[in-house]
Amino acid sequence: METQVAIVGAGPAGLVLARLLERQGIDSVVLEVRSREYVEGRVRAGVLEQRTVDLLTEAGVADRLQREGMVHAGLELRFGGRGHRIDLSELTGGRTITVYGQQEVVKDLIAARLSAGGALRFAVSDVELAEVESERPAVRFRHDGEAHELRCDAIAGCDGFHGICRAAIPPGALTVYEREYPFAWLGILARARPSSEELIYANHPRGFALHSMRTPEVTRLYLQCEPGEDLGAWPDERIWAELQARFELTEGFRLNEGEILDRGVTPMRSFVVEPMQHGRLFLAGDAAHIVPPTGAKGLNLAVADVEVLADALSAFYRDGDERRLAGYSERCLRRVWRVQHFSSWMTAMLHRPPGQDPFEAQLQHSQLEYVCRSRAAATTLAENYVGLAEV
Ligand SMILES: Cc1cc2nc3c(=O)[nH]c(=O)nc-3n(C[C@H](O)[C@H](O)[C@H](O)COP(=O)(O)OP(=O)(O)OC[C@H]3O[C@@H](n4cnc5c(N)ncnc54)[C@H](O)[C@@H]3O)c2cc1C
Repeated sequence: METQVAIVGAGPAGLVLARLLERQGIDSVVLEVRSREYVEGRVRAGVLEQRTVDLLTEAGVADRLQREGMVHAGLELRFGGRGHRIDLSELTGGRTITVYGQQEVVKDLIAARLSAGGALRFAVSDVELAEVESERPAVRFRHDGEAHELRCDAIAGCDGFHGICRAAIPPGALTVYEREYPFAWLGILARARPSSEELIYANHPRGFALHSMRTPEVTRLYLQCEPGEDLGAWPDERIWAELQARFELTEGFRLNEGEILDRGVTPMRSFVVEPMQHGRLFLAGDAAHIVPPTGAKGLNLAVADVEVLADALSAFYRDGDERRLAGYSERCLRRVWRVQHFSSWMTAMLHRPPGQDPFEAQLQHSQLEYVCRSRAAATTLAENYVGLAEV
């Protein structure tokens, strides 16, 4: 088998790349270890930056997103028993975020790929990369019981944090930057009307909590918990009681409750490998970096990477110009580190680390008040949250 670009992984990074390449007449094959049902049902992120929405719209895969996505012009920071609105749109010259589930983005991209007749194989196994330092690398895999070898000009490693592509780079060629956090997020999806029109980020003495949503009937809620928290210790009543306590019954607010449709614990980690490329292998998205979800950036950063990669591959095929491919990692890493900083800053400002001393708690409170009172500080939050056009 042959193609121009072999794409390992059908998450947001792999599927958006396939779409961008298709629009430029560049052939690709997408390989995914999981089934289509699994990939389309995986509940993850849900906040799209303005630039992600613009890119999906230009790529012709945003019809449903435009119809069903919920455009938000602000968010709330809640602490000290009060809510403070950050007007994202007013602070950023009219930019907004759109709430639309990651699995809906993935469904739209898969439907577009298949209807355009693009190659996308689910449920492959034993995926291995070969000769990534040569000009004709290969991906070997099994599908429907048969072994295959896919030769290509370039491999896009879009297989997430636990994939195999990063490991195909000799360890000596990579620098790893990593930070683990002493807390995680317990997330639920509930059949309940959102309790507020906008997202609420709450810093409470009992810990962080986030109110978000997926549709006008489905709420997404998170609360700070221990890393590796046992979900068995969290019956529905305990989850609701803890959430109600952290959002506080001030200003007449009460969370709408409903049937819990999905629940899970998301670890909090910051991780970057440099460089994001080796020979003809290019890592994108979670395969190269992880951010704690507080800044709502994981999916957006994955899309930003493949936008750069598609542009570099297009220059390579159009003019035989390899310079942009050579500069892929450097170009991506500027945004990656900006987003790492923002995500880590939001995480530090909003969570209560175990054993937090009173001095630290006062600093955190002062920081939150400053963000709410100073236009300059609020703009820093807003412009990073909606996504910086240029980094
Ligand atoms: C549990 C969880 C919850 C999250 N929640 C949030 C959130 O609330 N807010 C937020 O902003 N971000 C969240 N994120 C982060 C965000 O979802 C990711 O940053 C985003 O999915 C990155 O997209 P990606 O395409 O790089 O990787 P992924 O979405 O991980 O896609 C990688 C794909 O590669 C496939 N794959 C793996 N190994 C192989 C292989 N060997 N061969 C072929 N295919 C392979 C995987 O099955 C997967 O489909 C969450 C992440 C996780 C893991």
